[in-house]
Amino acid sequence: MKTNSCDYIVVGSGIAGLYIALLAVKSGSVLVLTKGSIDDCNTRYAQGGIAVAMGRDDSPDLHFKDTVAAGAGLCDAEAVRILTNEAADCIADLIRFGVPFDTLDGEITLTREAAHSVPRIMHAGGDATGEHIELALSRQVRSTSIRVLEHCLASEILVQDGRVTGVRALDGHTGSVEEYSCRFLILATGGVGKLFRYTTNSDVVTGDGIALAFEAGAEITDVEFFQFHPTVLRLPGVAPFLISEAVRGEGGVLRNAEGRRFMADYAAEAELATRDVVARSIVYEMKKTGSDRVFLDVTHLSPRLVTTRFPHIYRFCLDHGVDITRGPIPVAPAAHYLMGGVRVNSWGETNITGLFAAGETACAEVHGANRLASNSLLESIVFGKRVVQRTEMTVSPDRGQPRASDCVHSLPEREPLGSAPALNLLGLQSLMWDKVGIVRCGEGLEEAARILATWQKTLPEPSDRLSYELNNLVLCGRLVTEAALLRKESRGAHFRTDFPQASSEWERHNVFRKDAAD
Ligand SMILES: Cc1cc2nc3c(=O)[nH]c(=O)nc-3n(C[C@H](O)[C@H](O)[C@H](O)COP(=O)(O)OP(=O)(O)OC[C@H]3O[C@@H](n4cnc5c(N)ncnc54)[C@H](O)[C@@H]3O)c2cc1C
Repeated sequence: MKTNSCDYIVVGSGIAGLYIALLAVKSGSVLVLTKGSIDDCNTRYAQGGIAVAMGRDDSPDLHFKDTVAAGAGLCDAEAVRILTNEAADCIADLIRFGVPFDTLDGEITLTREAAHSVPRIMHAGGDATGEHIELALSRQVRSTSIRVLEHCLASEILVQDGRVTGVRALDGHTGSVEEYSCRFLILATGGVGKLFRYTTNSDVVTGDGIALAFEAGAEITDVEFFQFHPTVLRLPGVAPFLISEAVRGEGGVLRNAEGRRFMADYAAEAELATRDVVARSIVYEMKKTGSDRVFLDVTHLSPRLVTTRFPHIYRFCLDHGVDITRGPIPVAPAAHYLMGGVRVNSWGETNITGLFAAGETACAEVHGANRLASNSLLESIVFGKRVVQRTEMTVSPDRGQPRASDCVHSLPEREPLGSAPALNLLGLQSLMWDKVGIVRCGEGLEEAARILATWQKTLPEPSDRLSYELNNLVLCGRLVTEAALLRKESRGAHFRTDFPQASSEWERHNVFRKDAAD
């Protein structure tokens, strides 16, 4: 086993990991570990853009209000203030790092997305924002002394006397496990979208950071809140492809399989209602019409607007036989974004000294029960910057315990089922989609919880990337399902038919910790 040592180890090379690495390299030596190639991540698929209050009729205060309204009572107000107040400063960093945001007559162009009161979404290459961000950041990283190890999967967090000492990682080329030591370990491993059968997420997004952090003794919170994107291309034999929120923002309308526009039946904001409302409404319409899809229609918009504003979507659909300027786009919801994750304070710190989390894998409670579109790229940089600032401080700020009202749990022991279905990735994803998906009920959650617990007991020791990922997915599946079972209400993205209303009693967070005594 070789030993390597540096000041910062960043796990993950999406927006959070690369941005943090670029800021941290001014303060010490930096190693980035990433399990695929550098640009294998969700970031590069982001289309819509990144929210920032810089328009004439906008303000950080209005952005704050919209974010908190979408979060359905569970946003941390201080964290949202930080998000909206520090946004412009971090966007300036992205511009400095070379992200070519779209402009018109020398001014950055802003678009509007669902549940934002005003246009405030910056974009690049029309609908290729994430690709441009990933390209610019990785190019910058390569021009510095930052060391990047690709095809290197972090498999265990090393902790001694309550302090992080490093990480173990599987070298994808040699199959050997190596140890890396550091002063600060930053998890930027993204969410857990691969947990569900239909997903917009990249194959690398398997909840590794959450699973590793939980095993190391960190706290995991709000994982019952999983956002399903309402409009993902649904064509036989074609992998799910996101049709950005911005398409509805520009005037796209939803019609059911019979051609009827339906969103006004469910919400006053119609197509611009929050994602959870639109996703559930689509599920109901699909059920009503007996179809596995609805249609997003932009044929009433000018073809020039459609092809210049959404060149990527236009081209992808055309390549698969749908000219969106002439006919409606078949869509259905798919798993998209995890609001919860590794619990951090407003400096990205976990409850383990020296262990930080940022980006989608972290939960600073900015999104509450439902993320506002285009706030996640922003969260990654705002809180990513604070991680680096925190490591440069000499005095420790308050680490922030769970509030007295929050419920801290360990994962419950469950009696293994005598006969559980055989475990494989598709079986796991189908179980999560069917029982822990957009519309949940206690009975289905209970069934899923028992199957997942049985699977967890039978998992073999992982030895390669796929088996590590499957182990991590099963653990994350258990955390999501147990959290959904505990929350006996409906709020934001978490909807239960047996508890269809929000309850004031549940204006609190579920926290899981391995050694919690409950
Ligand atoms: C299709 C799509 C469109 C989106 N559009 C938008 C948008 O318009 N605006 C917006 O704000 N958000 C959008 N999002 C969400 C946003 O893209 C993500 O939340 C954000 O990119 C997450 O960045 P990240 O750096 O945290 O993680 P990611 O970009 O997912 O990167 C995670 C990294 O961690 C690495 N990794 C994971 N596990 C390990 C391990 N064990 N060892 C080593 N490396 C590991 C991965 O290989 C990867 O490099 C979209 C998401 C998707 C899927």
